[in-house]
Amino acid sequence: QKPVPCDIEISRSRAPKPIDRLAREVGLLMDEVEFYGKTKAKVQLDVMNRLQAQPDGKYVVVTGITPTPLGEGKSTTTIGLVQALGAHLKLNAFACVRQPSQGPTFGIKGGAAGGGYSQVIPMEEFNLHLTGDIHAITAANNLVAAAIDARMFHEATQTDKALYNRLVPLSGGQRKFAPIQINRLKRLGIEKTDPTTLTDEEINRFARLDMDPDSVTWNRVLDTNDRFLRKITIGQSPTEKGHSREAQFSITVASEIMAVLALTSSLEDMRQRLARMVVATSRSGQPINTEDLGVSGALTVLMRDAIKPNLMQTLEGNPVFVHAGPFANIAHGNSSILADKIALKLVGPEGFVVTEAGFGADIGMEKFFNIKCRYSGLQPHVVVLVATVRALKMHGGGPTVTAGMALPKEYVEENLELLEKGCSNLRKQVENAQHFGVPVVVAVNAFKTDTETELDLICSLAKEAGAFDAVRCSHWAEGGAGAVALGQAVQRASEAPSNFKFLYDVELPIADKIRIIAQKIYGADDIELLPDAQHKVALYTRQGFGNLPICMAKTHLSLSHEADKKGVPTGFVLPIRDIRASVGAGFLYPLVGTMPTIPGLPTRPCFYDIDLDPETEQINGLF
Ligand code: ADP
Repeated sequence: QKPVPCDIEISRSRAPKPIDRLAREVGLLMDEVEFYGKTKAKVQLDVMNRLQAQPDGKYVVVTGITPTPLGEGKSTTTIGLVQALGAHLKLNAFACVRQPSQGPTFGIKGGAAGGGYSQVIPMEEFNLHLTGDIHAITAANNLVAAAIDARMFHEATQTDKALYNRLVPLSGGQRKFAPIQINRLKRLGIEKTDPTTLTDEEINRFARLDMDPDSVTWNRVLDTNDRFLRKITIGQSPTEKGHSREAQFSITVASEIMAVLALTSSLEDMRQRLARMVVATSRSGQPINTEDLGVSGALTVLMRDAIKPNLMQTLEGNPVFVHAGPFANIAHGNSSILADKIALKLVGPEGFVVTEAGFGADIGMEKFFNIKCRYSGLQPHVVVLVATVRALKMHGGGPTVTAGMALPKEYVEENLELLEKGCSNLRKQVENAQHFGVPVVVAVNAFKTDTETELDLICSLAKEAGAFDAVRCSHWAEGGAGAVALGQAVQRASEAPSNFKFLYDVELPIADKIRIIAQKIYGADDIELLPDAQHKVALYTRQGFGNLPICMAKTHLSLSHEADKKGVPTGFVLPIRDIRASVGAGFLYPLVGTMPTIPGLPTRPCFYDIDLDPETEQINGLF
C-alpha cells in the first residue's frame, strides 16, 4: 500500500468544487446562501420554512470509546462515513461537525477536520477563522463581562437618583426608556412606560442591580490556550480604584454563548436565550441576567451571522455543515441543532445526516441525548461508536504515551491479551449508548499496524456486548471506499427498531440527576456534593432553575473523575466541587473535581510548525 501523505498535503491535492455548485447540488436556492469566498458559505435559516413539509432524513450520531492520547478518529469516521454513504452508496448524505477551537489548533491536539483521505476541505480554512463565528462569540461574551463590571462600578459611585438619571437620560428635554428597560420593569412587576412616574422605591429597584461581586459567574473568554488567564485580578488601574476583584478566563468554545448557538432553534429563540443568561446574584438573592444588564439585544446583533450554519465539503465532494464548538468535557461539545435540522430536511427521507458528539460516549453522547435531543426534539436512528485497537490496548493496561514519543511495541505489534482486557471500556460505552434505546454500530478504525486477528476480536466482542453490528473500516487510508461496509451497517441499523428514551426526568431534584449520570454512565458508587455544590443546589432550586438538564464538566480521559484511570474504573465516589448555571443555554453545569476551563500551551506547541509561504500564500505546517 502507498504511504498516506500528511493531512494538509491530501487536503491541498483535491480542488474543492465551487461552493455555489455544492449549494445547488444539495437543493439550496441561491438567495438562501451567503458566500464567504469560494469554498465556504453561510446558509440562511429561511430554508427551514421552505422545506417545512419535507420529511427528515435518518439521523446518526458518531461517538467513541474513552479517548486516549493515541487518537480514536471520530471526526475522521464522521467524514469517512458520509463519503461512503454519499459518494459510494449514492445516498444523500450530510456531515454536521463542530468548528475547531484555535486553542488546540496552535496548542497540542491539532485540527479537527478529520484526517487522511477523510477530511473537510480546505482544511486550513476549516481549522482557522472559518467565517468568524468564534470571534463573534468572543466579542459578545466579553461585552457582557464589561457590562457587569462597569455596572457594579457605576452603582457603587452614584446615588439611586443619579444612577436613574443616567440610565434614563434626558433627550430632547424628555426621558425615555429603551425597550429593553421596559422589559426589565415588567420583570420587576412595574407596569409603567413613563420614566417620570416611578416612585423612589421603584427607582431603586429598577436602577440598582446590586450584584454581589462574589457571586459573578460570568467569565471573560479567549480562543487561545493562555494558561495565565486561569486566574487574574481585574480593575488594577487607579481609575477603577477599589473595584478590583479576582476573575478568570475560559476558552471561547466552552462559553455559554457557544452553547446557546449550538442549542438554539431560531433567531427569536436565540434572542430569548441570550436574554436569560444569568451572570450573578443580587445581594438580596435574585438572579441577574443579561436582559437586566441591557445587553441582550446587542448580543443578538453580534450573533446575527453566527447563527447561520457554514457549508463546506468533504474530500469527495459531499456537503458538510460546520457549526458550533468542541470541548465536550467542559462544555456540551456538540454541533448545532440548526445545522442538523437543516441538513435533515435537505437530505430528504432516504438520506442520512451524520453528526458528531465530542470525546467518549460517557461525555459527548450523554450530553447529545440528554441536552441536545431534549431541546431539538430529534431522535437519532443510529449511534456509531468508534474504537481503535491501540486505544483499547491502553485501556487494557498498555503503557502511557506522550506526544512525540515513539509508540511502545504493545501498540504496533499484536497483543490480544491487552486488547481483550481493554475491550471492557468498549463494552461499557456500548452499554452507555444502549441506555438511550438506539441501535449501536461499532466502527473499528483500522491503523496500518493492526492485525486481522485484533480487528476481528474487537468486532466479535462488540457484538457480544450487544452492538447491532461491528465493522472495521479503513477510510483514513482509502477515503469513503474504506467505509462502505460501515455505511451499509448504518443503513441496516437505521431500519432496526429504536426505543429512544432519556436517561433522567428533568423534573427530578438536581442531585438525583447528577447521581443517575454518575452511576449509570460513569459506573460510580455514588456522588459527593462538596460545600460549594451544596450551596448551589439550594440556590438554583430556590431561583427556579432546578429543572434544567445537566452538563457535567468532567475529564474525558476516564469514565471516572481521575484521568489516569483507564478501562472501566469501579469503587469510586464522584466529587462534585461546584455547580454553575447556564440558564440561557439551558443546563446546570456541575464541576467534577478540578477542571481548568482554559487549556495551556505545551513546551512544544503546534504553532512552531505553522508558517505562510509569501510566494504562494500557502499555509504550511498545519498537520
Ligand atoms: P477524534 O475526532 O476522535 O479526536 P480525529 O478524527 O480528529 O479524532 O483523528 C485524530 C488524528 O488521528 C488525526 O490526525 C487523524 O489523521 C489520525 N487518524 C485517524 N484515524 C487514523 C488511522 N486509521 N490511521 C492513522 N491515523 C489516523
